[in-house]
Amino acid sequence: TKYVYDFAEGSKELKDLLGGKGGNLAEMANLGLPVPPGFTVTTDACRAYLRTGDEPFGLADEIDLHLERLERQAGRRLGDTADPLLVSVRSGAKFSMPGMMETILNVGLTDTTVIGLAAQTGGDERFAWDSYRRLIQMFGKTVCDVPGEQFDRALDAVKATKGTADDLGLDAGDLQALVTTYKEIFTAHTGRSFPQDPRDQLDQSIRAVFSSWNAERAVLYRRQEHIPADLGTAVNIVAMVFGNLGPDSGTGVAFTRDPATGAPGVYGDYLANAQGEDVVAGIRNTMPLQDLARLDRRSYDELLAIMAKLETHYRDLCDIEFTIERGKLWMLQTRVGKRTAAAAFVIATQLIDDGVIDADEALTRVTGAQLAQLMFPAFDLAGRPERIATGIAASPGAAVGAVVFDARQAAEVAASGTAVILVRRETNPDDLPGMIAAQGILTSRGGKTSHAAVVARGMGKTCVCGADGIDVDVDRRQFTIDGGHVVREGDIVSIDGTTGSVFLGAVPVQPSPVVRYFEGALSPGADPLVAAVDRLLSHADKVRRLAVRANADTFDDAARARRFGAQGIGLCRTEHMFLGERRPLVERLILARTGAERDAALADLLPLQRADFVHLFQAMNGLPVTIRLIDPPLHEFLPTLPELSVKVALAESRGEPDGHDRALLDAVQRMHEENPMLGLRGVRLGLVVPGLFAMQIRAVAEATLACREQGVTVRPEIMVPLVGAVQELEAVREEALQLLRALGVDARIGTMIEVPRAALTAGEIARAADFFSFGTNDLTQMGWGFSRDDVEGAFFTRYLELGIFGVSPFESIDRDGVGRLVRIAVDEGRRTRPDLHIGVCGEHGGDPESIHFFHDAGLDYVSCSPFRVPVARLEAGRSAV
Ligand code: ADP
Ligand code: MG
Ligand code: MG
Repeated sequence: TKYVYDFAEGSKELKDLLGGKGGNLAEMANLGLPVPPGFTVTTDACRAYLRTGDEPFGLADEIDLHLERLERQAGRRLGDTADPLLVSVRSGAKFSMPGMMETILNVGLTDTTVIGLAAQTGGDERFAWDSYRRLIQMFGKTVCDVPGEQFDRALDAVKATKGTADDLGLDAGDLQALVTTYKEIFTAHTGRSFPQDPRDQLDQSIRAVFSSWNAERAVLYRRQEHIPADLGTAVNIVAMVFGNLGPDSGTGVAFTRDPATGAPGVYGDYLANAQGEDVVAGIRNTMPLQDLARLDRRSYDELLAIMAKLETHYRDLCDIEFTIERGKLWMLQTRVGKRTAAAAFVIATQLIDDGVIDADEALTRVTGAQLAQLMFPAFDLAGRPERIATGIAASPGAAVGAVVFDARQAAEVAASGTAVILVRRETNPDDLPGMIAAQGILTSRGGKTSHAAVVARGMGKTCVCGADGIDVDVDRRQFTIDGGHVVREGDIVSIDGTTGSVFLGAVPVQPSPVVRYFEGALSPGADPLVAAVDRLLSHADKVRRLAVRANADTFDDAARARRFGAQGIGLCRTEHMFLGERRPLVERLILARTGAERDAALADLLPLQRADFVHLFQAMNGLPVTIRLIDPPLHEFLPTLPELSVKVALAESRGEPDGHDRALLDAVQRMHEENPMLGLRGVRLGLVVPGLFAMQIRAVAEATLACREQGVTVRPEIMVPLVGAVQELEAVREEALQLLRALGVDARIGTMIEVPRAALTAGEIARAADFFSFGTNDLTQMGWGFSRDDVEGAFFTRYLELGIFGVSPFESIDRDGVGRLVRIAVDEGRRTRPDLHIGVCGEHGGDPESIHFFHDAGLDYVSCSPFRVPVARLEAGRSAV
């Protein structure tokens, strides 16, 4: 195996092997952009190292070879006392995990090469000692687990002695002394002296970067972002360039367009006389990238030209890291940039208009998850809430919660069910658990590219950053507003990640413009975002093969689903119509002692069901409506056993026994089941309780006739739940057909496929079915043999940690197992009946990942909740391009 690639040998297509950073560095180098020379150690090597705890055979030799080549390109040698080469050792996985893993800068500095570095830079001793102390600090922390605070404290002490608040106030002598202190800290903690062999530094750094793949925060981030746990990171070794060589040097980050709105322009932050992380860490306040034009016109123009070139090459928004060393521009990183959901839609349509991509490709630039985010509500400002600060709108959304000041507390308070807003001066990777737990994040420092902003955007979490009107005091657990007003821990604030506003108290929220557009209350022309959504969704509708229906039981839900683009109802749960004031009727049905009593109870239910269906049919005039016959066990409609026992016992102890309650209690006891989900429900109930299904089918038929009279076109479909054998379906079908024929109504009759046996005998079942609809919730429960209501808290977290699944199989369909049942049923069902119409109506019908699977498996439609309908339309389109 080849473990090391020169930048000249790599490309962005090799991300699996070289990671995103390495692949893109290679891509830029091969585009002729100014990238410092370097090479990449592959993820293969990392995986081997993590597996065995040792470098794979041959890696050391390959590194020797590539290092030599790098030294020739750079014209300097590692460890050369007169003119040393320094390198950075940088993590970089296939998927971007900003700041989650490690990078070590200035590798190659020792007690002797530090003198050479000073000579190299024209006698800049201050710079040389500053670089050395940074190396000891980063190396100590990352490679040897020296607690970072020890270095920070030593630095603060020197600053205090010197009477300066800024590192820039320290001179060469101060920094040289600091290096001595840092080395002492290093030795005290590790029991050995700071390594003076540069090659040894390099090897140890590479190993530490490998190991950082399993750092706690990286593991947590991957789980949050659904990134597989076994990919490993690549390691990039890059010749150092220096942004901290004086005012004509600096470092910055930039986007090729505004990542928040998608507007073209110059977006970025620049920090003169600074190295690496200084910008992102928000240590000093940065300046807008535009201002670089005044400082260094030539580098600025070159940077803009490179940005344009990158955007055309990647055909997408890119973000970049760059450094200017004494007037010479160097590119240190690029990638297709993270962006807000709104920007994704706007950018995708702009790229069509710019002729960079076509409409099909534009669909690959947006996701259903982003569309779902755009459907979130926003603040209603009609009540003129008190705005206490304004920051940078870093990640959109409207978040309301109690103020907390650290990650641990955010997690604790959120776990108790209270929404929280995490407030920090700036965030760092240790804050991640708190950021996940919080509704939103508010910081007083840092720009659009700060840690808080980048991570929040990635997670789709509301964030306002750089609100410099507030003064955060974590120790006293409060922040002070400009005017002097103090907000304490537990106070409620509302933050608007779309505008950057921060309000005191809970501000009410209102529907998003995208939802108002779906509702017909906003024309697409009214707003650029809505126009972009309209355009991409229309294209998705044009190219998709999967139809999209909704799960709805009421007129309002059905009508909304239709406005959102549903092409019918894929699941009406009739049991929802047995609740509330109809309960007494269900009780009568259950308590009936004779056939006549039962028929009377059913006869009373009939007109109610009929009216329900009439409403649904009206809302879906002209579109198919699938009515599922009653599914849950009947005792779900009765009071629970303990509740009723207490009531009866109390009444009897008072000497006022209630005959009805007593009879009900007997019935509940009689009907009690240990495993109701596997008990008397679905088709089993229909075959055991005479007249129950017949009543429902009659209600469908009569509702159809009533609608027909009103000129409403009805396309009824009757669906039988929980079928496991064709005989069950045949029995129901026979009775249904007779009834329908007698009333002169035509309806399709089909079945859920939700019991594994049904999937495995689908060829048989298809004989009696006009359609199949996969009930993937039950199919998943029964396929895995675990109950959805019990497992999530019990062991799913552990299973996710162990990588037994990457996501809960209730969230995204398990392609290998449950998905295989689906494929078998599709294939064998269609073999019996080529025109068999097949859909899915479980929770998975609205899940993007699963929709792509259903497309591939050859389904005809998905059905999901009304709010997911636009998401499903988009994802169905995306699966077709
Ligand atoms: P991350 O993945 O956390 O962004 P990076 O590997 O990009 O980590 O490095 C951290 C910082 O160090 C970045 O600002 C980067 O630009 C800077 N950096 C990395 N390598 C070099 C180098 N060879 N010369 C100068 N700066 C570098
Ligand atoms: Mg970086
Ligand atoms: Mg079911």
